[in-house]
Amino acid sequence: MTYTTLLLTLALLSPVPTTQRIHSVSDISQQFSFYMDGRFARQYLRDEDRDVRNWGSLHKLDLSNANLLILTSGNYRVPYTEAASKHIAHFLHDGGAVLVMTDWDDPIPPVTAILGEYGATLLKTRVTKPLKGLHELSDCEITFRRGSTLQLSDDWTPLIIDANEKPILAKRAVGQGTLVVGSRGLFGHKPDASDPINAEWVQPLLIQAAATKKIDPDAPHRRTWAEHTHQSGPLIVEYHDGTQPMAAAIVDVYKDIRPHLLEITGVEPAPGMLKRLLVLPTGGGGFSSGARIAIGAWWGGFPEHRYPMVELIAHEATHSWVLPHPEPVWNEPIATYIGMLVGRRMQLAQATQRMQAQIDKARALDPDLTVIDPMDKDAPRHLIWGKTYFIFEQLEATHGPGAIAKYFQAKRAHVSATRPSYTMHDCVAIWSRATGEDLFSWFQSYGFSVDPKKTNLWPPESDEIKP
Ligand SMILES: [Zn+2]
Repeated sequence: MTYTTLLLTLALLSPVPTTQRIHSVSDISQQFSFYMDGRFARQYLRDEDRDVRNWGSLHKLDLSNANLLILTSGNYRVPYTEAASKHIAHFLHDGGAVLVMTDWDDPIPPVTAILGEYGATLLKTRVTKPLKGLHELSDCEITFRRGSTLQLSDDWTPLIIDANEKPILAKRAVGQGTLVVGSRGLFGHKPDASDPINAEWVQPLLIQAAATKKIDPDAPHRRTWAEHTHQSGPLIVEYHDGTQPMAAAIVDVYKDIRPHLLEITGVEPAPGMLKRLLVLPTGGGGFSSGARIAIGAWWGGFPEHRYPMVELIAHEATHSWVLPHPEPVWNEPIATYIGMLVGRRMQLAQATQRMQAQIDKARALDPDLTVIDPMDKDAPRHLIWGKTYFIFEQLEATHGPGAIAKYFQAKRAHVSATRPSYTMHDCVAIWSRATGEDLFSWFQSYGFSVDPKKTNLWPPESDEIKP
């Protein structure tokens, strides 16, 4: 076979080739998830495709240079507005592709309002394996986690059915465009994107669906940010139409917390940090990127329940407070510990209960908390968290009041922003300088393999230490 005929044969064998890039928008305005914040795109798009996220109200999103919109179930507290629904319809009629990944749930996912307009209903009936691909997916291997089935009007083409012939993935034409709906269980879900299940057929499906809308690959395809801002003291609060009802309540919590954080840490947030607070449409947590903290609007049943929100905001704020050097080993636990200290100062009983429960879990693994080294890469998570709380409680009891503040102040004073790393050896050196006592052997007695020879922050140059 000559090279030319080989190429010709390959071209005939593959599905309609398209060189057009995908410009996708992963919508996280109706429901935030870490997975949709870039992981989906890493799993299912090609290197040359470009994904951006929509953080703002969906109906205001500029879709002129996008050809794929990706939606999930949505949070039941943020219904799709009529304007959003019309916006999606326009996009489809213009040739755009919309992928909806969802399953039946209680309460019913808001995206069912969109699907209903096109004759698709989410059924409570669970999927029964094995699954079977139809049409272009007839020879495909299908990996499935779990999920529910669909009921579809005749306009739809089922692409995957379960053992009872119930559809779980289907597509239909809408105007020039294509609407694809499938169970969430057909797609990856790991935050580190390490499970790109079904990528070998998901990717071609998306490429083909998006091909009917021309985009200009050289023109901008940019992220859309939450469109409302509100200045509250030193903080800019960011939200969209759907999260607007929660923004004020969350800011009130932050205002209550901030004086406690200042007292507990004894310092202001690190320079340039904690300037913005973004309200996320989720009950599922938050994140900190240093200058910005993002807070799930309904975390822990907020606003009915207050303590979890206090702990979360203080946790994310602490991530900004410890910078420019994240804490070694206990960067996550210290953030929650400080959240608990804030909760305790606000007389919220859950703070102490949660702390004690975690210390008990650590004691179940290491009864005297003297054996397992939290610095060991295989140290169990519960041990690291519980031992962290225990150590801080001991430090406060022995070197308080305000041991944490002494530590933060010493860290700011002695660790330069340009220092290439900040290890547990450095951390204990700073604790020693903060308290005025050599704490290396004390930490070693609790199993930490810290070594004063492995840090240039110890001993101090001056006479900081008690004779
Ligand atoms: Zn965290």
